[in-house]
Amino acid sequence: MDIEKLRYLMERDGYSNFRIKQAKKAVYFRLISSWDEASDLSEELRKLLKNELPISSFTEVRKQESKDSLKLLLKTNDGQFIETVLMRHLNQKQDETMEGRNTICISSQAGCPMGCSFCATGKMGLKRNLTAEEIVDQVLHFARILKKDGSKVNNIVFMGMGEPFNNYDNVMLAIKTLNDKDGFNIGIRHISVSTCGIVPAIKKFADEETQVNLAISLHAPNDKIRNQIMPINKAYNIKKLLDAVDYYIEKTNRKVMFEYILIDGVNDSEENARELAKLMHKKLYHLNLIKYHDTGVYKSTSKDKRRIFFDILKKAGVSTTFRISFGEDISAACGQLSTKEVMIEPNVKK
Ligand code: SF4
Repeated sequence: MDIEKLRYLMERDGYSNFRIKQAKKAVYFRLISSWDEASDLSEELRKLLKNELPISSFTEVRKQESKDSLKLLLKTNDGQFIETVLMRHLNQKQDETMEGRNTICISSQAGCPMGCSFCATGKMGLKRNLTAEEIVDQVLHFARILKKDGSKVNNIVFMGMGEPFNNYDNVMLAIKTLNDKDGFNIGIRHISVSTCGIVPAIKKFADEETQVNLAISLHAPNDKIRNQIMPINKAYNIKKLLDAVDYYIEKTNRKVMFEYILIDGVNDSEENARELAKLMHKKLYHLNLIKYHDTGVYKSTSKDKRRIFFDILKKAGVSTTFRISFGEDISAACGQLSTKEVMIEPNVKK
């Protein structure tokens, strides 16, 4: 929902700040899906908002569900398509009821201009930046779905379509709204931004001295490989990238996550693991190894090879985990988000 427009409309018609707060609360806390549900607002105000301010900037075009994830295809008001994913980490409690954390993986752009060769979104090119409102609305959309079974959003990661630091101002504004106690009110440490390595933006982000988590899509242990699979490396090589990360750590004292997708024959040799171990030796670095999900360009590293790679890093003392993969069966996993089918066939039905 366009919060500026809400304020403008209500101030124009003489409503007090208290009423504006009430309307915001209905959207962000009570997670209404229509202004008709905002029973604490007068009928006249509900009518005004219903006519002039849609609750969401998206329509839901398609839903794909697996046991641990839900992927949505959303259409913006000007006809752009984006994908956004809910990942559910469910555990069985001792009393046999279920409890869990819900992470929303959101998009910051429709498409992406960065051209990483292993990424489905990268093949689309950039359509346009999303507005702060559209970024927040992805979270609200899932929050409304989760509310139906008494659950809520626990974490938000900017790891969907797009490079968040290419849309810096809107991403930061969206984070402010998501964290605002009069907005969605999620803890700042429950938000993570992932970048392919735009060095000046990492430094700017560090200067904000925010407690938002930073993740880096590294995916290569040296410049030769990184240049081949991530064009950004030609502008900002690994040394420049790690210098910027160290600056962020110096400013925030926060741990940084490095993402590394293992791609068969590209970046997964034992030598590559040893090179990577040398880069990842710093105290607040954490490495997430990720299984490559087929996007039709490369093959996934075998389980045995993944184990060997992991063991080399562990033995070298690197803080390393294998990231659990969600939603591979519905193309919702890392590097798989793309709306290419919809662009070919725009009249997809739910
Ligand atoms: Fe863009 Fe990220 Fe895909 Fe690279 S990996 S093309 S930065 S969405």
